[in-house]
Amino acid sequence: MSVNKLLQGIAEIVGSSGLLTGDDVKARSGDWRGQTNCQALAIVRPASTEEVSAVMKLCFEAGQAVVTHGGLTGLVQGGAAGPEEIVLSLERMNKIEVVAPLEATMIVQAGAVLQVVQERAKEEGLMFPLDLGARGSCTIGGNISTNAGGNQVIRYGMMRQQVLGLEAVLADGTVISSMNSMLKNNAGYDLKQLFIGSEGTLGLVTRAVLKLQPSCQSENTALVAVPSFDNLTALWRLMGAQLGASLSAFEVMWQNHYRTVAVESGKHTAPMSPDYPLYALIESNGVDQARDAEQFQQVLEQAIEQDLIVDAVLAQSESQRASLWDIREDIEALVVALSPLFGFDVSLPMGNMEEYVNQVESSLQAQWPDKGRCLVFGHIGDGNLHIVLTVGSDSEENRQQVNQLIYSPLQAFGGSVSAEHGIGLDKRDYLSLSRTPQEIDLMRTLKRALDPKNILNPGKIFDL
Ligand SMILES: Cc1cc2nc3c(=O)[nH]c(=O)nc-3n(C[C@H](O)[C@H](O)[C@H](O)COP(=O)(O)OP(=O)(O)OC[C@H]3O[C@@H](n4cnc5c(N)ncnc54)[C@H](O)[C@@H]3O)c2cc1C
Repeated sequence: MSVNKLLQGIAEIVGSSGLLTGDDVKARSGDWRGQTNCQALAIVRPASTEEVSAVMKLCFEAGQAVVTHGGLTGLVQGGAAGPEEIVLSLERMNKIEVVAPLEATMIVQAGAVLQVVQERAKEEGLMFPLDLGARGSCTIGGNISTNAGGNQVIRYGMMRQQVLGLEAVLADGTVISSMNSMLKNNAGYDLKQLFIGSEGTLGLVTRAVLKLQPSCQSENTALVAVPSFDNLTALWRLMGAQLGASLSAFEVMWQNHYRTVAVESGKHTAPMSPDYPLYALIESNGVDQARDAEQFQQVLEQAIEQDLIVDAVLAQSESQRASLWDIREDIEALVVALSPLFGFDVSLPMGNMEEYVNQVESSLQAQWPDKGRCLVFGHIGDGNLHIVLTVGSDSEENRQQVNQLIYSPLQAFGGSVSAEHGIGLDKRDYLSLSRTPQEIDLMRTLKRALDPKNILNPGKIFDL
């Protein structure tokens, strides 16, 4: 089938407003920062699962490669689309279809924006607990396809734990409706797991049944300064022991990160001195504000008495809470300070983090003594570090060397090259550092079974 005939067939399915070509495609961004233009052959914007299915049937027949787009906030080039690929965007499939307060579930279309879902759950006196900095743009379909993590994983788990069921369209257009809404359903294989975290390579997620949680009546947040990494791990254990399941966030910023964002960016009012080695942003959620606040404060006092923390700021209002989180979530300040920047998302056991970070910093200094600079922060409670660094230029040679510097020590530390962002194109060459050959072979077997013509996000995660 010729490309023109294929596009004509697609236009007949989605209508002329559902298909963008030429300059309309180039006018779209190719990445979350708007630094590149979309290069795709066309952007298809279906309005229903039936349209997605019909479009995929045509693409399957034509052997046409398709890259699915949600909010395009992914950070590993999972949504990168070349000039011969068609982008299928879920932007018109953004409705919240059903909220069931009794069962605490919500049925949404995959293009629904995370923040909209969070707000709708709140209106029902419930909560959707996945939360991350890109909440205003990222979509539920993208969150599912990347198995997103974020700020409350220590309490609620990753996206995988928030999904009860889903609907997906396979490469050949077959609709797999696995819209289970029960917590318990062991009737055979749990097929939704194939599509969670597989980055659009096994199917297009079109709808999902989400698990909601009771909303929290209390929220207590503190930023604390910690004198050493040993104190940090002791603090983590103390918080876990004293706050139990109500501990919902334990985010850490190394001094270099805190100083850059809170002070040097000029965008924030620094809540405390930037001279301490480490800063932890700790949050607990509960059901009784007075009781929980008292308990939270008592634990902080205990931490001070045990010399685990040397300074603390307790948020006294929602706006103070927001300004503490703004420091942790201000990615733009990092981009401005470290441009051109390389960003990394890795995981490793907490006990190995200090040594790993020290090794990364000393290798960076040894290789780029003048221009090498890195900042470290992350969801430490989940064993997840984010590292952003610059070496003065983002040439391909530097990219390769920096990747080696970050990824190669991880295996020995028992870590992973991807904690929560996925593999996409960026980490494809390093997948084997975190997965065995047998695991990668099985991934390929699954890919061939579900996508025999290799048309769904081809080349992402691994090459066939
Ligand atoms: C400021 C900022 C902060 C972030 N913080 C976090 C964080 O704390 N934790 C975290 O995990 N991530 C974080 N991210 C990364 C990103 O927000 C997540 O990966 C998010 O889940 C991507 O959702 P999206 O809708 O933007 O997906 P996209 O970027 O559009 O796509 C991501 C991948 O999923 C595929 N995909 C998208 N939709 C579908 C679908 N419906 N069906 C099949 N495949 C699909 C795409 O092909 C691509 O491979 C952050 C990003 C930014 C910019």
